[in-house]
Amino acid sequence: MSQKKIAIVGGGIAGLTFARSLASSGYDIHIFEKTESFGEAGAAISVFPNALSVMDALGLLQKVLDSSGQFQKVFLKSDKGTVLSKSVPRGDYPLVCIHRRDLHKILLDGISANLHAGYAVKSLSSLDDKRIQLDFENKESAVFDGVVGADGIHSVVRQSVIADGKPIFRGYNCWRGVVETDFDIGYASETYGSGKRVGIVPVKDGVYGWWATCNEGFMEDDQPEGTKPKLKRLYGHWHHPIPELMQNTDTILKNSLADRKPHKGWSKGAVVLIGDAAHPTTPNLGQGGCIAIEGAFVLAKCIRKYGLTNRAFSRYEVLHYPRARAVVKQSLLLGKIGQWANPILVPLRNVMFRLTPSSIAMRMFGRFFNFRASELEV
Ligand SMILES: Cc1cc2nc3c(=O)[nH]c(=O)nc-3n(C[C@H](O)[C@H](O)[C@H](O)COP(=O)(O)OP(=O)(O)OC[C@H]3O[C@@H](n4cnc5c(N)ncnc54)[C@H](O)[C@@H]3O)c2cc1C
Repeated sequence: MSQKKIAIVGGGIAGLTFARSLASSGYDIHIFEKTESFGEAGAAISVFPNALSVMDALGLLQKVLDSSGQFQKVFLKSDKGTVLSKSVPRGDYPLVCIHRRDLHKILLDGISANLHAGYAVKSLSSLDDKRIQLDFENKESAVFDGVVGADGIHSVVRQSVIADGKPIFRGYNCWRGVVETDFDIGYASETYGSGKRVGIVPVKDGVYGWWATCNEGFMEDDQPEGTKPKLKRLYGHWHHPIPELMQNTDTILKNSLADRKPHKGWSKGAVVLIGDAAHPTTPNLGQGGCIAIEGAFVLAKCIRKYGLTNRAFSRYEVLHYPRARAVVKQSLLLGKIGQWANPILVPLRNVMFRLTPSSIAMRMFGRFFNFRASELEV
């Protein structure tokens, strides 16, 4: 019998993790990526214990730890630098942050799949219950026994499964950068202002990632003011080392933050969704990529047990949907509170942070961190 062919649309974190998780199970795996090469540039990404446990199951944990920085302490601060809370994460896996470029490299290194860069999927059509045709922007087409949509928040594949249109912009934008410092910060932090926040995360050996949010319009342009002068105006008076990190960063990325309402029905026939294509979330919990890793692993586990069948797809959804939904909802709520600009609510929030014992905050995060997909009975 000939090998069944699976197409993964999108060579991001979800697509690559899925391919790795399904390796040597007898499928002929093809990954189609619309950009000209695999491997993201991007900025920093936090990888939390629930995702690190998957990396462990895939034999990649040490490589991730070797290329990342650990959150030894986590501070919540006010824009003036007052510490509102401090926690020291503990557990079987650490909380780490890694450059996206390095995470992609680790996932790609030794992957057993056929990689097709520069192949943007334009549309899908079902030939019958069991075969799907992919049509690419370059006018080529190919037929597969299964298609995994891992093409991110603006997923083309999702539109043939759920068809819910555009993502929902949540009213704030985010700048991000990675910068080498000549001073050691030694912690991860999130700083709260009025309608603005800044996060600092340790990437590795004096390299730090930062992100900054601000309430503003969808895709609002920084020109003609310019990104750095604008960041200086918005955050220049915030506590050390925020202004220094921003001004010393060479490449600054900007996104409008969006998600979608959690929606069941992640598969249709032989097509199934994973990662942001299935459950895009705002990044306030730092869990979008983590649950993309988790879900990709769970889907592969279900396919290993039930084959490339509807039973595998529905079992994956039963197991992963409640987690993804919880992340999307909790993250949206944290973002709303974090972006408060009301002069009464802002100080109230800061008092709330100060009065909440870190054990309670860690318990809230523990709900997401402590899940072990590798131990799941599928
Ligand atoms: C500002 C910000 C900060 C974040 N921080 C964190 C964090 O700290 N921790 C965390 O866990 N998550 C974080 N996230 C979320 C995380 O980035 C996403 O959840 C994660 O990248 C999802 O991975 P994915 O593979 O599903 O999608 P993507 O990373 O979007 O990858 C999709 C891939 O598909 C390709 N593609 C798209 N369309 C097509 C097509 N038609 N044909 C072929 N290929 C296509 C794209 O080029 C891309 O390579 C953050 C997100 C943002 C916006």
